[in-house]
Amino acid sequence: MGGFDAQLRWIESQKAPMQSSIEGWCAINSGSHNPAGIEAFAGEVIEAFAPLAAQTQCIALPAFGSIDDRGEPISFETADALVFRKRPDALRQVLLAIHLDTVYPPTSPFQSVVQVDSATIRGPGVADAKGGIALLLTALCALEQSAAAENLGWTVILNPDEEIGSPCSMGLLAEAAACADLGLVFEPCLPDGSMISRRKGSGNFTIVVRGRAAHVGRAFAEGRSAIHALATLVEQVAGWNESLPGVIANTGVIRGGDALNVVPDFALARINLRVEDRAQQIEASRRLADLTDRVSRSHEVEIKVSGAFLSPPKPLETNMEVLMGELERTGKDLGIEIGWQASGGVCDGNKLAAAGLPNIDTMGPQGGEIHSDREYLMLDSLVPRAQLCASLLHRYASGAFEVGANRHTRKGDCR
Ligand SMILES: [Zn+2]
Repeated sequence: MGGFDAQLRWIESQKAPMQSSIEGWCAINSGSHNPAGIEAFAGEVIEAFAPLAAQTQCIALPAFGSIDDRGEPISFETADALVFRKRPDALRQVLLAIHLDTVYPPTSPFQSVVQVDSATIRGPGVADAKGGIALLLTALCALEQSAAAENLGWTVILNPDEEIGSPCSMGLLAEAAACADLGLVFEPCLPDGSMISRRKGSGNFTIVVRGRAAHVGRAFAEGRSAIHALATLVEQVAGWNESLPGVIANTGVIRGGDALNVVPDFALARINLRVEDRAQQIEASRRLADLTDRVSRSHEVEIKVSGAFLSPPKPLETNMEVLMGELERTGKDLGIEIGWQASGGVCDGNKLAAAGLPNIDTMGPQGGEIHSDREYLMLDSLVPRAQLCASLLHRYASGAFEVGANRHTRKGDCR
């Protein structure tokens, strides 16, 4: 990596500073439903990025509509997203993204970081994804110390709602994706260092059934049971796990009914559907619409479905394979062998891919047991993964490879 050795050596000196940032950041609760905590954490991050970014913006996000457990519409507000930019006029543009929020609410007993041994820390968000933010910052600092940085514009988006599906920030992500050539997302890689290649798509759906209440003893036949109708629907959906290979259909929440002597006029289910590809997404959506129609007619109930595939599938497309190949080559120069795995899990990489941006979404450090009170980070991965990211950016800035075609078609409103 001609011309970048000094920067790679500088990254070697950054293990302790990265660890100390991560420990400080993880002591601030930033659960998805704790906007005040997210804002406090964002304040620290703004300070850390200040020496690097030419522009810093806190962007208010639109509220997101949802359905509560009684079937009533509710609106969900989140904290601002952070956007840092540099050289928006450069010919080459990259989008770097990761989230500010964690899955741990302020009421969780898991709130602080402990050093397990010399190579491991455990704490809320150490790997997912505050470790990724520290690593991204270090990689960008290294890049900015090189002459080639002049050729590369970058946008960093740190969103506050990824752990609940990025419902408020998805528009911001899609807009930024349209202005970049490639994307890197700093979710942790797997404990053995493997990275994620393609991902299934995921859709969340709320099914609200309204029937007719009646006295069980006096007028049972006049009632229309919302629970019975919903049970029929849920049973059919479960069958897709067999009849549509590759699809995962899970009813995760079910509500309904009040009293034993009343035919229930209300029932609700929340269903998560995961699909392999776009064709399966269309097929699953069609089946859900058909099924709803059939059950509502046969049970004489009203059924309303809300929700969508907010995380479309992330397939292996040509530009994605080019980018993966370049990452492998970059890793080879650094002595890092990249292994790939497909995943049924989704992240913002799905949304960026759906917006046409080839991206690698596990650029963060090695860690595991995420989303549990055993979440850990492997400290020895911080330096090599920051070097991997910095080198890839440096190679792209230097013209070592091309990926995507956005930069030739970029619209004026990207600046
Ligand atoms: Zn994450």
